[in-house]
Amino acid sequence: MHTESDILIIGSGVTGCSLARELSRFEASVTVLDRESDVAEGATKANSGIVHAGYDAAPGTRKAYYNVRGAAMFPALCEELGVPWRRNGSLVIALNEGDRSTLLALKERGEKNGVKRLEILERDAVLSLEPSLNPDVVCALSVPDGAIVSPYEFAFALADDAALNGVSFRFGEEVLRISVLPDGRYDVQTRGASYACRVLVNCAGASGAEIHNMLSGDKLHMVHRRGQYYLLDRSDRQPFSRTVFQCPSAMGKGVLVTPTVHGNLLIGPNAEDISDPMDTATTSAGLAEVLRKAVLTWPGLSVRTNITNFSGVRAHLTVDDFVVGPCEGCPGYFEAIGIESPGLSSAPAIGAELAGMIASFLKLPQKTSTVPYVPAPKPFHDMTLAEREEAVRSDPAYGQIICRCETVTEAEIRAAIRRPVGARSVDAVKRRTRAGMGRCQGGFCLPRVAEIIADETGMPFEEITKNGGNSFLLSGTVSSFLKEVPEHE
Ligand SMILES: Cc1cc2nc3c(=O)[nH]c(=O)nc-3n(C[C@H](O)[C@H](O)[C@H](O)COP(=O)(O)OP(=O)(O)OC[C@H]3O[C@@H](n4cnc5c(N)ncnc54)[C@H](O)[C@@H]3O)c2cc1C
Repeated sequence: MHTESDILIIGSGVTGCSLARELSRFEASVTVLDRESDVAEGATKANSGIVHAGYDAAPGTRKAYYNVRGAAMFPALCEELGVPWRRNGSLVIALNEGDRSTLLALKERGEKNGVKRLEILERDAVLSLEPSLNPDVVCALSVPDGAIVSPYEFAFALADDAALNGVSFRFGEEVLRISVLPDGRYDVQTRGASYACRVLVNCAGASGAEIHNMLSGDKLHMVHRRGQYYLLDRSDRQPFSRTVFQCPSAMGKGVLVTPTVHGNLLIGPNAEDISDPMDTATTSAGLAEVLRKAVLTWPGLSVRTNITNFSGVRAHLTVDDFVVGPCEGCPGYFEAIGIESPGLSSAPAIGAELAGMIASFLKLPQKTSTVPYVPAPKPFHDMTLAEREEAVRSDPAYGQIICRCETVTEAEIRAAIRRPVGARSVDAVKRRTRAGMGRCQGGFCLPRVAEIIADETGMPFEEITKNGGNSFLLSGTVSSFLKEVPEHE
């Protein structure tokens, strides 16, 4: 199969989706390729979900520049796209007098970056804000503008909006080779297809350096740094309302404790350099390190309500900054790589700036109108009784609870499959609706979800996967199995 487009984006993480949405406002054909089976399968689905205010990155770096601008775009974007986002504020704590100078340095950095309302709070004030904190806390940097977001729901909404406005998404397409055609366009090869484009954009996350090095003589080197987490069950009474960081180190921002937008509590990440960028395993040693460090923030730490563990891989370039823009010596090739933290916070600004650069390179006119995005209705879980009654009246599928832990209905699962970039696997449904996100982790609802996917898409049940690739739920039908068993057995 051969496809031609004006612009080809490699990677449907939050960076690629943000760029795709911005480019969908211009007159151009845009294709997004991803090797996985869904949007947000890289670092975007496995991070802390913090919209950093911008106090951490060194002034003058691209990280600082994009972080502050990106964070400022979140409130309006999340409102427009119906994505859960909350300005819960952050604290960076000092557990000894020696840490105070680190907090003062962070405050100064933040002020230079343009972050407002930064303040050093002394022990009593800190404990009155977060009574579950370690009583040995000396002081803390208060960051009222820190916020939390659901990172993958953000990426899904950006992708849906882009697709509604003409962007084509192709999954299961791993870029293996890139060459330059005689007319200057790029020819991108995957296992079974080729794609020609005038502009190629590398938003390939942990594989960003690999793609860059296929084209540029100026080689980049990436270190893959894994971070592991505990996710505790939802509760109305979580011990912390703010995101609490310890003092950062050369390896990152350290272990944090934070509520999520859905009312869970997230603890992590550690930082360990690994050789395989795809290795998102959790290990007993890594998780033990997370607990050992987190207990310094939260002495009453209990993981009795832990419902899952996961890890994400940071894409750290040894140049120690984001690389964003055109690549020297490769006309028409642009990149957004080395997008480690605060990459989620920065994504809207990276997408907007990169789209502007590409539009002026290709001299693209802006579209005169766009298809307006309609956010998904309020989740059934969050509806009042009256709203639930009305929902069931308007669509009886709201009356079928498929996921009992998270109160997710058949109507919501069907809607997730029908979205512009619709769910095609059990995990894709889970991340769009929360079916399977609760304490039983899909033990009860998984077969029902698969049944609904089969019904909506016409896919045979045995082709449905947990999460793309070979993660099939069934190995065959009982009748085909019986045919294989000799009669005398
Ligand atoms: C542990 C951890 C915690 C973090 N916490 C935060 C935080 O709290 N706040 C914050 O702002 N940032 C945070 N970050 C950073 C943030 O998660 C990333 O910056 C962001 O998700 C990067 O998005 P991306 O789209 O650039 O990359 P990704 O999400 O990794 O997407 C890259 C995509 O490219 C695809 N791809 C790769 N190679 C190929 C190929 N050859 N062919 C086709 N497709 C390919 C992948 O499948 C993937 O879907 C954290 C990161 C980690 C790992």
